[in-house]
Amino acid sequence: MVYKIDPQKCIACHTCMGACPVCAISVGADGKCVIDPAKCISCGTCAAVCPVAAIAPDTGA
Ligand code: SF4
Ligand code: SF4
Repeated sequence: MVYKIDPQKCIACHTCMGACPVCAISVGADGKCVIDPAKCISCGTCAAVCPVAAIAPDTGA
């Protein structure tokens, strides 16, 4: 299961971008980060470093 960023919680600090080992995270049009599900290897590193807990496994909800 890949990880997903909740845009309602993201404060656009971009900390997760630098932490992703496969560079699956980029900045979207609104300045907030987005995860490319095609690249994400579900390591959970981004979720661990996010200061506002905006990242979690994508349950499809
Ligand atoms: S670390 Fe969290 S708050 Fe910062 S850009 Fe990434 S998802 Fe948004
Ligand atoms: S779970 Fe791992 S591979 Fe997926 S976006 Fe986060 S840091 Fe990158």
